[in-house]
Amino acid sequence: MIIVLNKQIEPSDKERIVDYLKEKGFRVREIQGESDTVLGAVGSAAVDRSQIQVLPGVAEVIPISKPYKLASREFKKEDTVIKVGGVKIGGNRFCVMGGPCAVENAGQIDAAARIVAESGGVILRGGAFKPRTSPYAFQGLGEEGLKLMKAAGNKYGLPIATEIVSEKHIPLMEPYVDIYQIGARNMQNFELLKAVGKLGKPVMLKRGLSATMMEWLMAAEYLLANGTDDVILCERGIRTFETETRNTLDLSMIPVLKKVTHLPIIVDPSHGTGRRDSVIPMAMAAAAAGADGVIVEMHPNPEKALSDGAQSLYPEQFEKMVCDLRSVAAILNKELARIPQPAAEPETVLPTAAHPHSVAFQGEHGAFSEIALKKFFDPEKYCSLPCKTFHDVFESVLKGEAEFGIVPIENSLAGSIHTNYDLLLRYPDLTICGETKIRVSHNLIGIKTTELKNIKRVYSHPQALSQCARFIEEHGYRTFAVVDTSGSVAMVKEMNDPQAAAIAGDAAAEYWDMKILKPGIESDPKNFTRFYIVCRKENKPKTENPDKVSIVFSTKDEPGALLKILKIFADGGLNLSKLESRPIFGKPWEYLFYAALDTDGKTDTKGIFESVKDHSEFFKVLGSFKKMQD
Ligand code: PEP
Ligand code: MN
Repeated sequence: MIIVLNKQIEPSDKERIVDYLKEKGFRVREIQGESDTVLGAVGSAAVDRSQIQVLPGVAEVIPISKPYKLASREFKKEDTVIKVGGVKIGGNRFCVMGGPCAVENAGQIDAAARIVAESGGVILRGGAFKPRTSPYAFQGLGEEGLKLMKAAGNKYGLPIATEIVSEKHIPLMEPYVDIYQIGARNMQNFELLKAVGKLGKPVMLKRGLSATMMEWLMAAEYLLANGTDDVILCERGIRTFETETRNTLDLSMIPVLKKVTHLPIIVDPSHGTGRRDSVIPMAMAAAAAGADGVIVEMHPNPEKALSDGAQSLYPEQFEKMVCDLRSVAAILNKELARIPQPAAEPETVLPTAAHPHSVAFQGEHGAFSEIALKKFFDPEKYCSLPCKTFHDVFESVLKGEAEFGIVPIENSLAGSIHTNYDLLLRYPDLTICGETKIRVSHNLIGIKTTELKNIKRVYSHPQALSQCARFIEEHGYRTFAVVDTSGSVAMVKEMNDPQAAAIAGDAAAEYWDMKILKPGIESDPKNFTRFYIVCRKENKPKTENPDKVSIVFSTKDEPGALLKILKIFADGGLNLSKLESRPIFGKPWEYLFYAALDTDGKTDTKGIFESVKDHSEFFKVLGSFKKMQD
């Protein structure tokens, strides 16, 4: 049964309820949901529900109707997201596990791990104890295999998943294993399930060769009831009358399972089909059907594989598959799971020891982004890290090369910078932690020996060229687009051409030591650019009473859907300061809404967002922060 606790329950009352249930013979699990805290009590004990209902702190007692309890959605509404060495499995991540069927030697597993990591896989698979149909077939390298696999995993930052076939191997396996795999042939080996469940580590439970969904979930229940919270279900094909494929991969199970269980579901198209030519199509289908990931056999040299060579992908196929999976996952609003990069030590980021922190920006030194950076951050304490593209800014923050990043989001004349809206969504580990704006004033800049009357050609970023259109037209200049304003100054300097000029800010002219031929050439002097500051979620500085929230959502496809959401904002007292729609990648003619909301800094936005979630298909907070001062 599920005991929903009062929101403001006293810790002593909670303790009393737990003790009471344990005394009655129940196993008790606490689950912190997004809105409620619940206790799950499972076991064969019989107790009158009304007696629990009257305990102080109990809001509601709900029986679980399914025979599997801890595995059921009734027990836990939200998807379980399992963390293995920083890799997240489940939720809005799609996880690619890859590697050979069996560990064969150091060179083979090292090469496999490198290919998995370089292709975008996040977990290394490989068997050290192989349950083979024939006792004469290769049985695996045992402990030596585990050692080699762990070393390869560590080298490329990949946690490892490997099969356990016997309870007696536990002491030997414990130091190496990140995810225990229970093979199809052992799905109902209940003593093994009990022993592995007790270890508390993540377990991937393969579906038995002829197991029904109920039998499979009951096997998962054994693992959960014995101690682990982290069970991954793995569909790997079942026995049917068909012999053209090794098994029949039952993808129809995924949506059914998603309804009844909160556990993540991974698909194994390798054992599911037994044929290399079917593995990639079935991996794509698994992603489209809503799986949380795939586990795929890949061998550096499949012809030489000691087991399952015929179903193992070639390295290039694996790489292409991951690439394609990224696109399919995007349709379902999922990101490929990634290996988090440890934040770099300050020494490795620092150009000089005088600057303890760094901020990434797009462009060359002197760019408008760097001017905004120097406005927001104390230049004495923060140094700026130039990046080629906006994407590089996000990457360098993600990897810890820079503590913060700054990106333009909107120009008062030219509108939004859409790439950065898209990137904010593509980097779920980053959050917006502040905003700032600068006035953008452009200059015509040339080499020291030239003069305004000599200029015939002008180089700059397309936005800058369009903002100075009137001046350019009046002078009849030919224009050339360059990736950034400051970079255009550097280019003109290098050309050393008296007929060429760049358009950029004062800082760029100063940085490149060039001559301002004409200041303030923008068509409209009321030209401002707004910037967002981003950082990794765990590095977000504490903000007292944040009064601005940036969100993204998509509405249901029905009349008045957007109106209903806007009404929730209005009723909650949130001022919508910006609303912008963007096409959804992979879903032509469907749109995401990006919104900025102003609050008084005290409103409980959590409650408001809960009801927005109920009325939307997708909802995400991109960051809450202090509004910039005008
Ligand atoms: C394996 O993953 O190597 C394996 C033996 O799988 P299954 O238990 O699904 O046959
Ligand atoms: Mn295999």
